[in-house]
Amino acid sequence: MTRLDDGAISLRSGQSVWLAGELPETAAPREKSIYETEIAIVGAGITGAFLAERFTREGRCVLVIDRRDPAKGSTAASTAMLLWELDASLLELEDRMGLEAAARIAVRCRRQVAAISALVNEFGIAADVRPRPSLYLAGEKLDAADLREERRIREHIGIAGLYLDEGELAARGLIGEAGLLYPGSADSDPVKLALGLMTLAIARGAVVLSPAIASVYETTTDGVTIATREGDIIRARTLVLASGYEMPDFVPAARHSLCTSWALATAQTKSACVPGPDGALLWEASDPYLYIRTTADGRVIIGGEDEDFSDAEKRKALTPQKAQTLLAKAAKRCPGLVGVEPEFVWSGVFGETEDSLPMIGRIPGAPNSLAAYGYGGNGITFSALAADLLEAELRGRPDEDSALYALDRS
Ligand SMILES: Cc1cc2nc3c(=O)[nH]c(=O)nc-3n(C[C@H](O)[C@H](O)[C@H](O)COP(=O)(O)OP(=O)(O)OC[C@H]3O[C@@H](n4cnc5c(N)ncnc54)[C@H](O)[C@@H]3O)c2cc1C
Repeated sequence: MTRLDDGAISLRSGQSVWLAGELPETAAPREKSIYETEIAIVGAGITGAFLAERFTREGRCVLVIDRRDPAKGSTAASTAMLLWELDASLLELEDRMGLEAAARIAVRCRRQVAAISALVNEFGIAADVRPRPSLYLAGEKLDAADLREERRIREHIGIAGLYLDEGELAARGLIGEAGLLYPGSADSDPVKLALGLMTLAIARGAVVLSPAIASVYETTTDGVTIATREGDIIRARTLVLASGYEMPDFVPAARHSLCTSWALATAQTKSACVPGPDGALLWEASDPYLYIRTTADGRVIIGGEDEDFSDAEKRKALTPQKAQTLLAKAAKRCPGLVGVEPEFVWSGVFGETEDSLPMIGRIPGAPNSLAAYGYGGNGITFSALAADLLEAELRGRPDEDSALYALDRS
């Protein structure tokens, strides 16, 4: 089967806080134009980096290509709250797919966040990964009674945490009706994380080509061939697509939609403990939601305000207004933030699936082809999950959870 693709979209606007410092070089100079490899990964964002690290850890031969510099796609726009909680609450997931499946997803995501911390510690990756609790605040989607019910389900499946009432939130300097404070999440610098993982993969023999735009894919039962616009020919036993929100048209993406999200980072500030002394990752049960985190160097990041379009001009035009709205909403929640000014303001294309689950697994109708797509608000946790699920696919022993995330799930 031969497919053509050049579905490039503008992924980011503005100035992301993660691109302010110097970044290590990971792309290799081209030495030839024909490459043979076991695994060809398209996409050198956080997903491609998790995959490259995992596959090379297993001794696999890996080549990664990217049309941009590594980690300069949507990864550079991410606010990198490594949440075990999904955009959908367990209440919603239980409704949609039953308690057993909902529990498996939540427990797996908790394990996955812990595995990210363990991985960076084991290999000394400097990516500011910090274990954090998350604080889920009642909003227009879930009120205090709903949060009590959400806590009951979490407890039932063995995930322990606290319900905070209005007074307990006030003691943390927050205004709200109720909140759920749970351990088990983390935060990070997503660009450092992606480049750190990629550097580790390169040390084990992975090759990164960039810029290299995959434009023709030929997938057969004997293997795959990718032709790039720059003239490279890459032959691989297996193709793994990790091209983020730019999906070639042979990926069934009907359940996926694109929107735009905004974020800002303040200057380094003494009030960087705003969401509480434990640096909890704050997010609201609202649509659009608001979220607040701090950074390792003492900034406060505020994000959200999603809109249902991905057009770059529209998103640039709306940015000043969105920044003001984010600041005003954050100050209403955290009076400690009144008067803070943004130093960085940016926006990015953001993806969502109808069930809040990613699309990870074999691509129906494309032999020897795997995909890792469909990431929402806890996308990075799912990128790490993709590495586990796809390694299991490569071994020919699909993970016991694979059906939950399959591209052709019902
Ligand atoms: C504002 C914002 C805030 C977010 N906040 C969070 C958060 O707090 N927590 C969280 O977990 N997630 C968050 N996300 C989501 C998270 O950032 C994404 O899930 C993640 O960045 C996706 O990474 P990726 O590697 O799959 O995609 P990308 O980083 O976009 O990488 C894909 C790469 O593929 C390359 N590519 C595409 N097509 C081709 C081609 N034809 N040939 C060669 N290369 C190609 C691109 O150039 C790109 O570099 C946020 C996203 C945004 C926009």
